[in-house]
Formats: sequence, structure tokens, C-alpha cells
Amino acid sequence: MAEKRDYYEVLGVGRDADEAALKKAYRNLAKKYHPDTHPDDKEAEAKFKEASEAYAVLSDAEKRRQYDQFGHAAFENGGAGAGGGFDFSGFDFGGFGDIFGDLFGGFGGRRSSGRPNQPMQGANLRTSIRLTFEEAVFGCEKEIRINTRDECEHCRGTGAKEGTKPEKCTACGGSGQVVSQQQSILGMMRSVRDCPTCRGKGTVIKEKCQYCHGTGYTSSSKLIKVSVPAGIDDGQSIRIREKGEPGINGGPRGDLLVEAVVSGSRFFSREGTNIFSTCEISMAQAALGDKIRIKTVDGEVEYDLAPGTQPGSRIRLRGKGVPSLRDKTLRGDHYVTFAVKIPEKLNDRQKSALLAFDEAMGGTVGSPSGEAKGLFGRKK
Ligand SMILES: [Zn+2]
Ligand SMILES: [Zn+2]
Repeated sequence: MAEKRDYYEVLGVGRDADEAALKKAYRNLAKKYHPDTHPDDKEAEAKFKEASEAYAVLSDAEKRRQYDQFGHAAFENGGAGAGGGFDFSGFDFGGFGDIFGDLFGGFGGRRSSGRPNQPMQGANLRTSIRLTFEEAVFGCEKEIRINTRDECEHCRGTGAKEGTKPEKCTACGGSGQVVSQQQSILGMMRSVRDCPTCRGKGTVIKEKCQYCHGTGYTSSSKLIKVSVPAGIDDGQSIRIREKGEPGINGGPRGDLLVEAVVSGSRFFSREGTNIFSTCEISMAQAALGDKIRIKTVDGEVEYDLAPGTQPGSRIRLRGKGVPSLRDKTLRGDHYVTFAVKIPEKLNDRQKSALLAFDEAMGGTVGSPSGEAKGLFGRKK
């Protein structure tokens, strides 16, 4: 017999590992090397057996004690262990029930019931749709073109040539599954897997349908209407029921999931249902106040700008934000930040007007501290 690896090493746990840690380690290994996921892979099979054996011993308090004391010798014939050899063939498999139960149920995409003719919903399809900022805010109706598969109308999805039918697979007798039994160190192992001849379908096609090449499906480009709800945000998806891949054995089609890709706006930005924008006002407007017009997603609105509005100050336009996806009558707010435009070029008339204004304010120009110095402090 080849040199046996230490059971703790096999499971990758410390010698003080508790029951939960052992179980976790074993589950991970069993998932990784399970014969169902590695058909015909001898190395995986050996690893799976090695892990199962290690777990069988270490998860049993009495056997673990013996193993800790005597090592592998505890279970060899005539070993030093108190009870002599450890008879794996009599090992109680009941303890594995929950682990294997979890494992078999847990493989994604596997048919859990094992019935090959059971109707199943088709797979979901994903695509995306480009929306402008406003289309996302108010919703819209769009059409998108996608390629989807349909059942081939010539063979009605069977894949068999017109006038013929798929025949029952002789390898599995039509069940779609084959059961193999192996004598392992843990006793008789029974494993069920998809029939390799019919790949789990239970039927085989002798002559293929010429229109779909035996796949049972044809694909074509289609226009699909998408109702974009008001308030959708970048990255959110719209589910269109039963526009995905065709169902199997008469099951419903999968869904089509359309992800919104929302373009930025020149004027607005958005966080949730609130909209943000910046509004430029002149120095005179900021100081004197004014009736101004502010751009919102509903168009321009009039606003009474207060005298003495400071740069960077922010106001809220209630209910001018984005509708809630749940109830489009509920809308967020629009926050407007005022930016005061400072002229970059002034003509002589504008300069003297500003200087006259400055003088009237006490003369700050030419004063390093910015404090009013009176008429004599100003620059020429
Ligand atoms: Zn066909
Ligand atoms: Zn078969």
C-alpha cells in the first residue's frame, strides 16, 4: 500500500479542529473532487476517496481518538489499536446523509429531480438599453433588437428529421441517468450521473432535422418592446417576462433582463431621486436679487433670487426631482447651486463703473487686507 497521508493533512485542518471545521473542510474537498463533477478523472476520484476516508475517521470521536494515538496503524489488520482493524465496509454511512444531501442539492444548474422530461423554464437572457437622462427620469417606450432562440418549427424542438422521432436511449433505458456502483474503501458507493450517450435527455436522434441541425432551435433577430418605467437609474434592470430562452419540455421561456445604461446630462446630475444642477448668476443679480429662470427636467421655472445670494449657496425646488420607481407621483427634489460669474474681461466703462461701486463701498481695491481704505488707498 502506498504511503498514506495524514488524515488531518488530507482535510487541511489542524489537529484541534472541531466537528464543524472538519465538516466544512470535507464539504469543500468533496465538492471539488466529487466524481459527479469529474467523470472519468482517476485523480479526482482518488482525492475524493482519500478525503472521505479521512472524514469518516476524524468525524467519529472514538476512531479519531484511536487515530490520534496510533496513526494509520490503528486501522490496519492486527494494528496496535485496542479494537484491532477498522472495518470500513461496516462503516455507517448515515452520518454522510446530510452532507451528501446538501451537495447533491447544491450543484447549480443540475437537474435536482433527475426526471429528464420534466418541463423547465428557459434561461434568462440579459441585454442593455441606452437611455438619455430625461428618458430615465420620465420613462419611455423603446424597442430593442435581440437574437433569441425559438423552437424549430420543422421538428417542433425535437431535433429529429421531419417524419421521425427521437428514440428512447438504450444506454439508460430512457431515464437519462446511469447509476454506477463501486466498491470503495467506505463500502459500496452508488453514484448517479447523466447518461453520457443521451446527455441526460433520455432520447437519442438517429437522423437530425436539417433546419436546426438537430439542436431543436432556430435563432432569429427580433424587435422587442421595452417599457422603461419612470425613475429607473443607471444599472437597474427591467424584467420582461418570458422573452428569454425557450423553455425545455414545454416549460415557460426564461425572462429577458434589460439593464439601463443612462447617459449623463449636460445640465443635471442625479443621486437616487434627487437632481442637482448649477445655475450661473451675475454679480449684480447675486447682490440685487432678480427674477430668474432655472432649467429643470420639467422645463424652465421662474425663481425669485434673493438679494445678497452668496456664491455656492443652494436652494431646493421641491418635487422637481426624479419620480419614485414605486410611485411615479412621488418625486424627489431638485437642488440648485448658484455660481456667481466673475467677468474675466472688462471694458473701460465697466471698469470705471466697478471702481465707482467699490468707492461707494468704502474702497477695497488696492488694500491688501481687502478692508475698506477710503479713496486714497485705491490703485490707479
Ligand atoms: Zn429542427
Ligand atoms: Zn441515455
